[in-house]
Amino acid sequence: MRKLPPPTLSSKEVLISCISNIMDNTLFTDVNSNLSLYESAEKSYERKGSTGNLHTIQSHSDINGQITKNQMMFLYNKMVKKENPSRDFYDILLASSRKCPFCGYGKSTTLDHFLPKSSFPIYAVTPINLVPCCKDCNTTKLAKTTDEELLFLHPYFDNVDDSRWLYCEIGIYPETVGFRFKVVKPSNWDKEKFDRMQYHFETFNLNDLFMNFATEEFSDNLFYLKDLHNSCLQNGATFTEAALVIKDDLNSKYISCQYNLVNHWKTAMYDSLRSSDVFINWLKNY
Ligand SMILES: [Zn+2]
Repeated sequence: MRKLPPPTLSSKEVLISCISNIMDNTLFTDVNSNLSLYESAEKSYERKGSTGNLHTIQSHSDINGQITKNQMMFLYNKMVKKENPSRDFYDILLASSRKCPFCGYGKSTTLDHFLPKSSFPIYAVTPINLVPCCKDCNTTKLAKTTDEELLFLHPYFDNVDDSRWLYCEIGIYPETVGFRFKVVKPSNWDKEKFDRMQYHFETFNLNDLFMNFATEEFSDNLFYLKDLHNSCLQNGATFTEAALVIKDDLNSKYISCQYNLVNHWKTAMYDSLRSSDVFINWLKNY
């Protein structure tokens, strides 16, 4: 999960733009007369999001008994359609992160309602509730019930790169090496934060994603490592000395990746390889 800076757009400016070209005068008046309600709901969202209490926001079916869920969906569709002035806000939010913050790798092509608009229509066009993401993560999130969804990490509020939590286990087979990623609780995290990280990791199938990346990275580097090992032996090094050269190389890659991102799958992968005598032995005989 990648943290994003919260958007600086307000629900008020988005709403005013959404109703600027509608034909429904009643809806225009109702939204205008309830702008302060949207603003106070937005402030409450920011307050609760920054203190980990978004789950305490109550679901609802309308806004002040005047604006229905379907009308809010209609206004959100105004944001989505390219010919509307409010589309500019959609594009600004989408462009705020080229990569999907939920998985960290997919291309952001849509906006996710962190609190679903079907259960929280007051936040249907509220920027702080709209997160750019990839189609796969959006689909995964849509498939969850509201209660489960509240356990996801929120890219605008939750920072999970304050400690290392991603680790990798390697499996040695005669012809190849396999990788499996897992989440381990940092000692300075409370249980609730760890449970949400684990739920996020499992629900978005991040192990499968990282396994695929790691397998490709390993294949790309295997010839290089074997060649480095053989060169050491040809230059008169013992097996022990050649193993140290390989470990130093893997250690350099680990340190460089860790410096970039402590919870990158490469950091976890190179950490596991550099510490594995079984892998070094496998390389010797490969
Ligand atoms: Zn994604």
